[in-house]
Amino acid sequence: MSDYIPYGRQKISDDDVDAVVEALRSDYLTTGPKVKEFERAFAEKVGAENAVAVSSGTAALHAAVYALGIGPGDEVIVPAMTFAATANAVVYQGGTPVFCDVDPETLLIDPADMVRKLTPRTKAVVSVDYAGQPCNYDIIENIVDQEDIALISDSCHSLGAVYFERNVGMLADLSTFSFHAVKNMTTGEGGMIASQDKTLARKMRAFRNHGIGVDHRARSKRGTFFYEMTDLGFNYRITDIQCALGLSQLKKLDGFIRRRQTIASRYDAALAGISNAKPLAVLPDRTHARHLYVIRIEKGRNEVFSKMRAAGIGVNVHYIPVHLHPYYQSKYKTSPGLCPVTEKAYDEILSLPIHPSMTDSDIGRVCRVLADACREARK
Ligand SMILES: *Cc1c(COP(=O)(O)O)cnc(C)c1O
Repeated sequence: MSDYIPYGRQKISDDDVDAVVEALRSDYLTTGPKVKEFERAFAEKVGAENAVAVSSGTAALHAAVYALGIGPGDEVIVPAMTFAATANAVVYQGGTPVFCDVDPETLLIDPADMVRKLTPRTKAVVSVDYAGQPCNYDIIENIVDQEDIALISDSCHSLGAVYFERNVGMLADLSTFSFHAVKNMTTGEGGMIASQDKTLARKMRAFRNHGIGVDHRARSKRGTFFYEMTDLGFNYRITDIQCALGLSQLKKLDGFIRRRQTIASRYDAALAGISNAKPLAVLPDRTHARHLYVIRIEKGRNEVFSKMRAAGIGVNVHYIPVHLHPYYQSKYKTSPGLCPVTEKAYDEILSLPIHPSMTDSDIGRVCRVLADACREARK
């Protein structure tokens, strides 16, 4: 359907295509110079000392959990309102995700519930900058400092956002990013971990390469075949083809975010005239990267969803609370009632399309269809 407006999609221009073609014609398709170049450019962009590029946002989360030494018996607090991968990464290393509720206005992790979920086994917290808005890191930092536990920021939504003049990527021990096609910039599939800690970065570099400390280029430079696998790792490498696209996309990130913010303002204005739908709250002292534009419809969300989908608007629901997935219910004995704010939100939320390749006329169409669908839901 050509007039279907998806909730998210990439914006690829000729310079992106040229960059990828150049990589394809070069000597290295993977683990070559583009990987390092992308890592350096990304680290500089967010202001971090280290950036480690991997094959996906999920691999980034897994590497972060690994680098912190989380294993069996360790608990990691994770908000229930997120994509399943946030919790799965803890499970991959044998840790236990402990689900935490969110604030009803923002759907960001609720620090009060976080404190309630702390136990002597808590090893880390994962904060999720839901929809692209940085969490209340001042409060979260106080808690993790006091408890002497680690903080991972799942920043898959918030690349490009700023919190009290600190960039996302600088707000936690480890910050993870995704470059999936719908994210704020893309490499097709891909991910990154930003950190100020060189030792953690070195661990994650080995982890993405089977647990082997040096890559093939370093070996050939030293004129040796010898290598040692010192820990169990994975093949989580990213290709030079992808990093060439990443370098090209990174240059346009600020423009992408500005366009997302413009679309968000248009939606804000439209919602002012719709009594039964309201946007999530935006907090002061931070910018919002506007990865998602989420509204709440107290009654008739499913009806509005169906009407908008039927009209070719790719609305979506982010997310099904992670603790309600059958895997977690059966394996971790989670059940409805565990995170009531998240569960109530799940019945009411709807993500409107938002991405830089939307035209002004696309935005107008979404607003009209939304207003009509909400009017019918009021009847
Ligand atoms: C997209 C996303 C991920 C996973 O990233 P992939 O690159 O798809 O593996 C993890 N957490 C959140 C919050 C995301 O939005």
